[in-house]
Amino acid sequence: MKKQFMVIGLGRFGSSLTRTLIENGHEVLALDTNENVVQEMASIATQVIHADSTDETVLKQLGASNFHHGIVAIGDDLQASIMTTLILKELNMPKVTAKARNDMHGTVLYKVGADHVVYPERDMGIRLGKQLSSDTLIDYIELSPNYNLVEILAPHAMNGRTLDELNIRAEFGCTILAIKTNDEINISPKAEDRVHAGDLLLMIGSNEDIRQLENHYERKR
Ligand code: ATP
Repeated sequence: MKKQFMVIGLGRFGSSLTRTLIENGHEVLALDTNENVVQEMASIATQVIHADSTDETVLKQLGASNFHHGIVAIGDDLQASIMTTLILKELNMPKVTAKARNDMHGTVLYKVGADHVVYPERDMGIRLGKQLSSDTLIDYIELSPNYNLVEILAPHAMNGRTLDELNIRAEFGCTILAIKTNDEINISPKAEDRVHAGDLLLMIGSNEDIRQLENHYERKR
């Protein structure tokens, strides 16, 4: 479904978000106080406006309630980030996602009505730290503080063995949801399907169970 987004602040975060939304077929009205940035993005976003988002009349004229989602991507100017979030919610923007520099900033953004707060620098640091700490972890999605969906590289110790032989669910409590081999993906792997070293395994499990499985295969290297 095509959606209408309003992106406020076209720094590295706001501009890459705008490009991605447009590439995925959505409409984006973008807004920034910096004339150069506005000109740069003019050919990319559906509409780009040179304006200050802390000016309530501007956001009112743009009709905040007619959008599906507003994203406040202002970083340095905390006051502008907080004021903009507040104004968007007061103007009945259905959903507001705001970018925060730190926990304190995030807490205030929630207090003034943000529906969701993202911490791109902090989260990217955590993600990279997890990937670099593990020899097998390729990517992960945090489902809850205790459960993750992870993509791991099948180690040599799994090579040529069937899921039945590996017995991962019984031994570690993790479930393999899919096996990716080159460009092919097996999304409902059966007990007799074999894993080959270098395959990508999409797996769901608790942090502790996944860690135990990784340690087990790490020791077998
Ligand atoms: P990034 O990490 O995404 O590059 P940042 O966190 O360093 O950005 P800033 O550069 O402070 O954040 O802000 C992002 C953009 O928001 C800038 O292009 C800036 O001009 C714009 N901006 C700041 N204040 C306002 C405002 N009141 N109204 C509209 N745009 C604003």
